[in-house]
Amino acid sequence: MLEIVQIPVLQDNYLYLIYEPKSGQTAIVDPALEEPVIAEVEKRGWALTHIINTHHHWDHVGANEALKERFGLTIIGPKADKDRIPGIDICVDEGDQITLGDAVADVYFVPGHTRGHIAYHFAEADALFCGDTIFSMGCGRLFEGTPAQMWHSISKLAALPDETLIYCAHEYTTANGNFALSIEPKNAALVARMADVAALRANGKPTVPTTLGLEKKTNPFLRPMSAEIQHTIGLAGADLTDVFAEVRHRKDNF
Ligand code: ZN
Ligand code: FE
Repeated sequence: MLEIVQIPVLQDNYLYLIYEPKSGQTAIVDPALEEPVIAEVEKRGWALTHIINTHHHWDHVGANEALKERFGLTIIGPKADKDRIPGIDICVDEGDQITLGDAVADVYFVPGHTRGHIAYHFAEADALFCGDTIFSMGCGRLFEGTPAQMWHSISKLAALPDETLIYCAHEYTTANGNFALSIEPKNAALVARMADVAALRANGKPTVPTTLGLEKKTNPFLRPMSAEIQHTIGLAGADLTDVFAEVRHRKDNF
């Protein structure tokens, strides 16, 4: 069974160490910085063998070259963005699989936040590493993609099992939830989740990972079919892509 360790860095980034005990292979997902990763693997006596990148932003690839130099590891990243991923060795795309010892992850192409963004799903561990695509109660900004692309990408990930653990790359939950409440105030699951989030944050605890099942109930970017959201934003009965686009637009200006 995989061991997954969350490393908080910078203001609100999460890095994830993934350790496969049988082989000892160890990956770091989206290393923004080098020192916290080195400290964590040394503490645990693990040897870093892979970097797994979801997209090219500096807060996801910042330590690629330094870690490669130090550990001689292999860097796996999105084929569509290969020229923007420092040190990339293995380019992957929708339908590909990667392995970490005995563990296998399916790769999903999820453009929207960036045009080459991918996600990795370790089915046996129910673990999804989706970078800046789905956040707890939010989604990534559309820097390089269209709302239609992002809605398609999110819909693809939403088809995974409800118990899927979503290891997203940022702790944006409180701000996301405040926006969610502004357009769906009568959603009881959302109100309850916000109380849980407030308690976790008051104790300095992460709200991530979340689960896909919980996101389907509380995340407005997975809920353009919600009658309340459609009503609030004046798009009752509209096309789901148009609802999604308007929700994203409103969040950008919230
Ligand atoms: Zn990003
Ligand atoms: Fe990011």
